[in-house]
Amino acid sequence: MFPAEFINGLNESLGPERAGRVVSALAEDPEVSVRVNPFKCSVEDLRAHFGPLAGDPVAWAPEEGFYLRERPSFTLDPLFHAGAYYVQEASSMYAGCLFDKAVSQLGRQSGLKVLDLCAAPGGKTTQLLSHLDDASILVANEVVPSRATVLAENVARWGCANVAVTNSDPSAFTALRSFFDVMVVDAPCSGEGMFRKDERAVAEWSPDNVRLCAARQRRILGNVWPALAAGGFLIYSTCTFNRYEDEDNVEWICSELGGQCLEMRHFWPGEDRGEGFFAALIQKGARS
Ligand code: SAM
Repeated sequence: MFPAEFINGLNESLGPERAGRVVSALAEDPEVSVRVNPFKCSVEDLRAHFGPLAGDPVAWAPEEGFYLRERPSFTLDPLFHAGAYYVQEASSMYAGCLFDKAVSQLGRQSGLKVLDLCAAPGGKTTQLLSHLDDASILVANEVVPSRATVLAENVARWGCANVAVTNSDPSAFTALRSFFDVMVVDAPCSGEGMFRKDERAVAEWSPDNVRLCAARQRRILGNVWPALAAGGFLIYSTCTFNRYEDEDNVEWICSELGGQCLEMRHFWPGEDRGEGFFAALIQKGARS
């Protein structure tokens, strides 16, 4: 069912036993999870709204995210349309933890300038807004125009005023030298972590596509890196498993751009309650 090269890569990274567990988990149904909009309701109110459907809190985001025991019809729910919550895959909520770590290392919580470079449909953007005070600003960018429209709708629904949605190529940010305190690059990737949610991700996967994605990620990162202030933080993430797009790119950011990796984490279906996700927290050194 999955390409042989993909299975070989997993075996190399994890060993056959763990790789086997991940592959079995990819045949199971994905979990459904939601994240509260703290500006509109509390997590307790949202749990009460879902009643018996409300399940366990997401372990790495217990104050904002929880699983649902089954998938309701979100489009029939007025609170969904009111932006009281966002339907977000649990693993990717880890970006919020890394963001909090970055802010605590920066030593100031207010007046921050934050960029979410590959932002549509808005999962990370809405989470970042929940973690920012209103004296901070978030630029949420999406290069694909139709996806930027969806991003703008989701941002409007979230209801914060301290966010600007832009529709630019990453190269447009190069000139903003040392501007942002924190940037999130949730890069377009080969999507191995979405294999159980999205059949197209399996159909489109190939070793050539992995190489293409890894090269595109480096181009994107090289374009925005000058816009990060010295001492600022990059959160680099993908929803794929292979080292070319994940660890190798983090190593490249450190050796070629002058970053220091403070944390790297994989989320594996079958081991973590969520889809495949990779995230790294990288600090920009003074020299670059
Ligand atoms: N951060 C989003 C979220 O949490 O909802 C998901 C982002 S998705 C993994 C990657 C995004 O990168 C897509 O919206 C895609 O349109 C965009 N993208 C595709 N090619 C790109 C490129 N060359 N430069 C920048 N972004 C690109």
